[in-house]
Amino acid sequence: MAWAEKLGKMTYGEALARIPDRAAPDFWVGDLKGIDCGVERMTRGRVQTIATSPGGRPVYLLTYGERQAWQRLANYNSAIGAREPAAFLAGDARSRPVVAFIGPVHAHETEGLTGLMNLVAVMETGHDLRGRARAALRALADQCRLLIVPCGNPDGLARFEPRLLNGMGLDDLRFWGQGTWADDTLCGWPGCKRLHPMRGDAVGFLGCYFNDAGINPMHDEFFAPMSDEVAAILLLVREEAPDLAVSLHSHENPPALLRPAYVPLEIQRSVSEVAAQTYVRFDAQGVCHGLPFEPSAERGPHPAPFNLTSAIHHTSGATAFTFECPHGTCGDTAYAVTPERILDIQLALYESMLVCALS
Ligand SMILES: [Zn+2]
Repeated sequence: MAWAEKLGKMTYGEALARIPDRAAPDFWVGDLKGIDCGVERMTRGRVQTIATSPGGRPVYLLTYGERQAWQRLANYNSAIGAREPAAFLAGDARSRPVVAFIGPVHAHETEGLTGLMNLVAVMETGHDLRGRARAALRALADQCRLLIVPCGNPDGLARFEPRLLNGMGLDDLRFWGQGTWADDTLCGWPGCKRLHPMRGDAVGFLGCYFNDAGINPMHDEFFAPMSDEVAAILLLVREEAPDLAVSLHSHENPPALLRPAYVPLEIQRSVSEVAAQTYVRFDAQGVCHGLPFEPSAERGPHPAPFNLTSAIHHTSGATAFTFECPHGTCGDTAYAVTPERILDIQLALYESMLVCALS
């Protein structure tokens, strides 16, 4: 089985010593302080704390665009049961689309955090944190209501010393992401999921996948959340009913919009269309990508899990998907990209999401 794959060992001291002696680019946001700096500078948007992590850290919600109230007769799944989705949210109930950006719940995946704090800068100043004017993105966003959770797992982020994995190796990604067992063996993916919550004597370094209570938010217990972070994200989407929602992740491969599991084929097809639009933008940037996925049902001995993205759809009706951005790690199997290009990838995704939400 994949989780039994023999992985190497790494101690915390060794992991720290492997961090390159380099400064993160000025536009990179890879720690809690960077979030606070961006939030403190906000004047146009609204800031709320929607949860406090087990480590006592705030989960922020940053919003732009007015909230439009509507009359709701039923929660989402009852409205679907009534064969009357409008009992939850009628298509014409709101004049502006609502788009939700759920930042990294796997906190070492700071590509999405950097992207979202740059989006906040665009909303505040019209420029990203490189100082580059982003008039088209801003004009699209101004026609929507944006829900931005810059980081869904601040405990994990507090543990992430490198701030970005760009230029580092697959074992660094494994150490900081999934952590180690008590004998310093790397947990790796997907072996890190076989113990959940990730706590007790078996655990060595707790990877940034997890909050301080050992919860991986992608695999929380969605009908009875173990983490306040996930409970708050689900409450947010239940109340706001976003039209489109993304959970931002990263991996070592080219960027990809993933097929959401356990959602109707029609919703999958909508996500695949967002993927096609986004990949056109990646082509223009010279960024590699695969084909948009084919909608399909779960099947086989190892079907896809019902994860946070699935839960977001079933709670809110949102066209919800997971985005995987490259870290730009080194190695034979990794897709090499610079931090600059990573920011371009993130902003291209947001722009295409907004175009799709407005169409
Ligand atoms: Zn992830």
